[in-house]
Amino acid sequence: MSLLVTGSIGIDTVETPHGKAADVLGGSAIYFSLSASLFAPVRLVGVVGADFPADRLDIFKGRPVDLAGVERRAGSKTFRWHGRYVGDMNAAQTLRTDLNVLGEAGPQIPPSFADSQVVFLANTHPALQREALARLKKAKLVVADTMNLWIETTREELLTTLGLVHGVVLNDGEARLLTGRTHLIDAGRRILALGPKFVVIKKGEHGAVLTTADDSCVLPAFPTTSVIDPTGAGDSFAGGMLGYLASTGSWGMADLRAAMARGTVMASFTIEGFSYTGLVKATRAAVDERLAALRRIMHFG
Ligand code: AMP
Repeated sequence: MSLLVTGSIGIDTVETPHGKAADVLGGSAIYFSLSASLFAPVRLVGVVGADFPADRLDIFKGRPVDLAGVERRAGSKTFRWHGRYVGDMNAAQTLRTDLNVLGEAGPQIPPSFADSQVVFLANTHPALQREALARLKKAKLVVADTMNLWIETTREELLTTLGLVHGVVLNDGEARLLTGRTHLIDAGRRILALGPKFVVIKKGEHGAVLTTADDSCVLPAFPTTSVIDPTGAGDSFAGGMLGYLASTGSWGMADLRAAMARGTVMASFTIEGFSYTGLVKATRAAVDERLAALRRIMHFG
C-alpha cells in the first residue's frame, strides 16, 4: 500500500553526553522516511526555506523515497531545533525552536500523492497535520505523532487532529502531559477515548506499550549499549511500524505487534549515532538479525 508522511524537515543542533552535532539534518519526516523506506516506498511531504542546502537530501539517493512533495519556499527560512539530552537521555530538553516555515501554510501535496492509503502525520503543527489529512481522501490508515510544544501551545487543535486518526504514537512524557494521567495504561485508555483505535506509548530504554480497546502488547527496547543520540528514535520507530504495515496491507492485532517489533529495531539503530548516521547503517540483513535477537530475548516457556 502507498505510504505518505508529512512532518518537519529541519536543521538540528543536538547535545548529548557524547558530544555535540551542530547544524545537522533532522526533522520528523526525515527520520520516518529513512526508516520506513527499508520496508516500503515512501512519499515525503514537507516544506523547507530558501536557505535549505539541497544536497542534504542526497541521503535518500538509492532509497525508494519520492521527494516530489518537498517544497522549497522562496522568502522563508527552514525549521530549526536545538535540543539537549542529559542523564539517561530518555527525554530531550528543547533549548530553542525556530518554527520559521513550519509556522506558515502547509506544504502542497502533489496530485500524484493524493491516493495514498497509509498516512503518517509526523510531529508538526497540528493544524498542518489536519490540513494535509483533509487532502488525502483515500487514506485507510492514519497515524499521528505529536510533542510537548504542541500539547502545551495548541491543545485544542491537537485534540481535533487526534479525533480524526486511527492510531497515535507518542512517548511517555507526552502521554502524561496530554492526559494528566501518571500511569501509562490509564493514559493510553484516555487517548483512545479521544478517538484513535490504538495508541503506542514509547518509554525510551524501557520499550513500548500498545493499547487497543480490548488488547495490549508490551515490548522491551532492543538492548543496545551504545546510546549516542536519541534524536529521531520516535520517528524511526514509527517509520519501522508503518513501513511494515504498508508492506502487509493489514493492521490487525498480530500485524500491529509485528510492526512494533520492526519499530523497536529501527529506533535502536538511530540512537547509535548522531543525527541519521546510526539509522543509515540499518540494512535489511542487519534488521533481520536484530529481530531474531529480539525474539530470543522475549521467549520464555
Ligand atoms: P524524535 O523522534 O521525537 O526524537 O524527533 C526528533 C526530530 O523532531 C528532530 O530532528 C527535530 O528536528 C524535530 N522536532 C523537534 N521539535 C519539533 C516540533 N516542535 N515540530 C516538529 N518537529 C520537531
